[in-house]
Amino acid sequence: MSVEQAVEQLKPQLLGSLLTAKDAGYEEARKVYNGMIDKRPAAIVRCADVADVIAAVRAASEGGVLTAIRGGGHNAGGLGSCDGGLVIDLSRMRGTRVDAVKRTVRVEAGCTGRDVDHATHPFGLATPTGTVSTTGIAGLTLGGGIGHLSRPFGLTIDNLLAVDMVLADGRFVTASAEENPDLYWAVRGGGGNFGVVTSFLFRLHPVSIVSAGPTFWPLEQTPEVAKAYRQFIAQAPEDVSGFMAFMNVPAVPLFPEALHNRKVCAIIWCSTADPERAEKLTKPMRSVGTPLLDGVGPMPFPVLQSLFDPLLPAGLQMYWRADFHKDLSDASIPVHQKYAEKIPAGMSLMHLYPINGAVQRVRRGDTAFNYRDSLLAGVIVGIDPDPKNKEKITNWTREYHDALHPYSAGGAYVNFRMEEGQDRVKASFGENYNRLAAIKKKYDPTNFFRVNQNIRPA
Ligand SMILES: Cc1cc2nc3c(=O)[nH]c(=O)nc-3n(C[C@H](O)[C@H](O)[C@H](O)COP(=O)(O)OP(=O)(O)OC[C@H]3O[C@@H](n4cnc5c(N)ncnc54)[C@H](O)[C@@H]3O)c2cc1C
Repeated sequence: MSVEQAVEQLKPQLLGSLLTAKDAGYEEARKVYNGMIDKRPAAIVRCADVADVIAAVRAASEGGVLTAIRGGGHNAGGLGSCDGGLVIDLSRMRGTRVDAVKRTVRVEAGCTGRDVDHATHPFGLATPTGTVSTTGIAGLTLGGGIGHLSRPFGLTIDNLLAVDMVLADGRFVTASAEENPDLYWAVRGGGGNFGVVTSFLFRLHPVSIVSAGPTFWPLEQTPEVAKAYRQFIAQAPEDVSGFMAFMNVPAVPLFPEALHNRKVCAIIWCSTADPERAEKLTKPMRSVGTPLLDGVGPMPFPVLQSLFDPLLPAGLQMYWRADFHKDLSDASIPVHQKYAEKIPAGMSLMHLYPINGAVQRVRRGDTAFNYRDSLLAGVIVGIDPDPKNKEKITNWTREYHDALHPYSAGGAYVNFRMEEGQDRVKASFGENYNRLAAIKKKYDPTNFFRVNQNIRPA
């Protein structure tokens, strides 16, 4: 069946809307977050509810139509869209419901991190998500979910109690520890390979005010800071976190003008401890060398979560590369310093997120997320508003990654990757790949859900 025929069949069944190239709003609707991606789907279904998702999956699957699933549209490689096929867009499904007694939140699949924080903060509760609040909860969760609260409370998937989802044949199922446990195992890290998740049920934790903000050092002090950081973060109590960054100081009023556009080595802090304890625990690391700025203070958790949003609006050109690292080895430190000195102007960055603490209290085989024995999840992102600079940011990212990869654990966090081929997918899932491929065969034998970091049916 052609896409056009599938679309004609689908149209009368929808409560939501359906956009093709002929419709006003199509050009806006087809855009994804990364301005480097320019895909033109034949049709976009803006689902209003679960029934719309079931109808769209049935029509596309029976018609053999190429289909992409879109949550927040933030994926680096633009995997929330496709050329010439159907996009099942969940961005209008954004309901949330907090159960303050059971400490859970039910989240529809079109929610962003901001939607979740907004729902839970009034109850003095939060669940671990990422570090930028515009990111879609769906893609972030299905890949793992690394952020400010990973050390105290684990990855996003470690707090995922259940999902509702639509399978390739249109069946609606729940996956949890009790129901379809194989599917529950697979969706915790295996990405969108197994079906369309329509809602997530997360565990919540008491989090309200956090001690957060950046410490910046001159790049020349990178060796001293990096060596102190690796020792500090390996041993720090779980209620303290801070990711390491190499970046240009953004030229915005939040930072002193004298530092604007200066290349720095930084730690971005977040501690859930009370402010006095947070100060005591982080002060020794913040006192290493001679910081240029130490801007740590108490703030509501959602303020931290959205602190970087204005610096990273949708539409920027972005080129991503990533790897997990067992350690911040002596040999890798000069690589960071060398490429940090060459950071292109603007928001291009290198981040090293700690994934020890509570993340490592879950065993490797307990979920599909493979690299729990790594200390850090690293990501290099070349960023620029101007398409003319695409080559410059791409080359910087690639060269930095090529130089750093030999010191890595081998695979990368799937959510920090673009489309880099099947070998890299296998490296990311490592020992868990074969089990994922067997579950894929059971739930999606024709590989209908393939616009993703694809796990081929065994
Ligand atoms: C600025 C920025 C900051 C980021 N920060 C972090 C961070 O701190 N921590 C972190 O872990 N990640 C982070 N990420 C990466 C992020 O997790 C991924 O980009 C993720 O894919 C985004 O999810 P999405 O729903 O917005 O993506 P989409 O582009 O909508 O989808 C991504 C993938 O997920 C699949 N998918 C989406 N929704 C569903 C669904 N409901 N059911 C089944 N499959 C689905 C899609 O098929 C696609 O393969 C960041 C990304 C950006 C751009």
